[in-house]
Amino acid sequence: MAGVSRRLLCLMPTAFVTGITGQDGQHLAEFLHGQGYHVFGMVKGQNNPRVERIQAELPFVELVSGDLADLPSLVSAMEACQPDEVYNLGAISFVALSFSQAELTANISGLGVLRMLEAVRMVGGAKDNPIRFYQASSSEMFGQVRETPQTELTPFHPRSPYGCAKVFGHDIVVNYRESYGMHASSGILFNHEGPRRGIEFVTRKVTNAVARIKLGLQDEVVLGNLDSKRDWGYAGDYVKGMWLMLQQDQPGDYVLATGETHSIEELVQRAFAEVGIDNWADYVRQDPKFLRPAEVDLLIGDATKARTKLGWEPEVDFPALVKMMVAHDLQLEAAKAGLPVPG
Ligand code: NDP
Ligand code: GDP
Repeated sequence: MAGVSRRLLCLMPTAFVTGITGQDGQHLAEFLHGQGYHVFGMVKGQNNPRVERIQAELPFVELVSGDLADLPSLVSAMEACQPDEVYNLGAISFVALSFSQAELTANISGLGVLRMLEAVRMVGGAKDNPIRFYQASSSEMFGQVRETPQTELTPFHPRSPYGCAKVFGHDIVVNYRESYGMHASSGILFNHEGPRRGIEFVTRKVTNAVARIKLGLQDEVVLGNLDSKRDWGYAGDYVKGMWLMLQQDQPGDYVLATGETHSIEELVQRAFAEVGIDNWADYVRQDPKFLRPAEVDLLIGDATKARTKLGWEPEVDFPALVKMMVAHDLQLEAAKAGLPVPG
């Protein structure tokens, strides 16, 4: 079966996903499973604490071992899976961490993409149906934006080691596509969130704190810059766009975004309003330790290409996203503390 596409044999198509333990990896695995895929998920480390949760919540995912810092491990993992489609979601994805661990970020989020492309080239897939590759590019590449809204053609000006690593990843995908004719696509995804978002990101930090404040478990939330603006969508909508990119005859790059932007202050205000607290400012303290050496002030994407070529549409808007996250965190924190969920 080696090198022969399962899709061509009319068997279950197979996907190989890095970053399976992350927010998007979990949403994508669920989506692909629903589409009839056999999903392999790559996990790093010898005793990864997130594995147990994946096995419990996504039992249909077959886990394989590998690390984006280690090319031979990527080749072995891909040889074992013989995928039709590869989704590279693995990364050091937190901008703030990328300032303190810049070299690691460049290695995993930047060079990791090159290693994945090489592994895909080596394993290859069927001659008439080669492996299709998706790269998780980011709106952080636009950084200090050159135009508003941002499109696939907006020049990059990254403002963090994370943004710089993503620019390398993005450019090397274009280069491998042009050099080797690979079916390699990049989604330039604007911020997307949900109940599975890591607690270090501002949306989840805020919705979790609001839930805990409402339950009397916490007094305040300490934040950095409240003025920056983001185009926030729902992760569940965005993984569908990733898959649609790989179903096209031709590879390409696509912005996925809602086309709306909101400040951190608006996010905070709306999240507190969800639990009936209007005097939100009484519960928010700012601390310079959460400011970044360089900030991305404004992101707002134009997803016209994805809408017209892929037929992609985001379904969850900003108010619905905040509502969903606050409701989830109220349930979660009440259950942990043995408290009733406030009505
Ligand atoms: P998460 O931070 O939730 O997940 C990152 C994943 O990368 C985790 O599964 C992590 O594994 C894995 N990973 C980290 N280091 C390595 C390594 N050395 N080898 C293999 N895997 C590794 O990110 P998201 O799910 O939110 O994002 C998915 C991708 O999309 C990322 O590439 C991110 O940069 C990009 N992106 C995300 C956006 C968003 O708003 N969410 C916006 C634009 C782009 P472990 O759990 O073991 O640490
Ligand atoms: P990013 O867009 O990938 O950097 O996503 P984040 O959720 O980490 O940050 C979004 C914006 O929120 C950035 O402009 C941050 O400076 C701002 N922000 C303000 N306070 C905080 C905070 O306490 N934590 C985080 N993560 N971001 C904050």
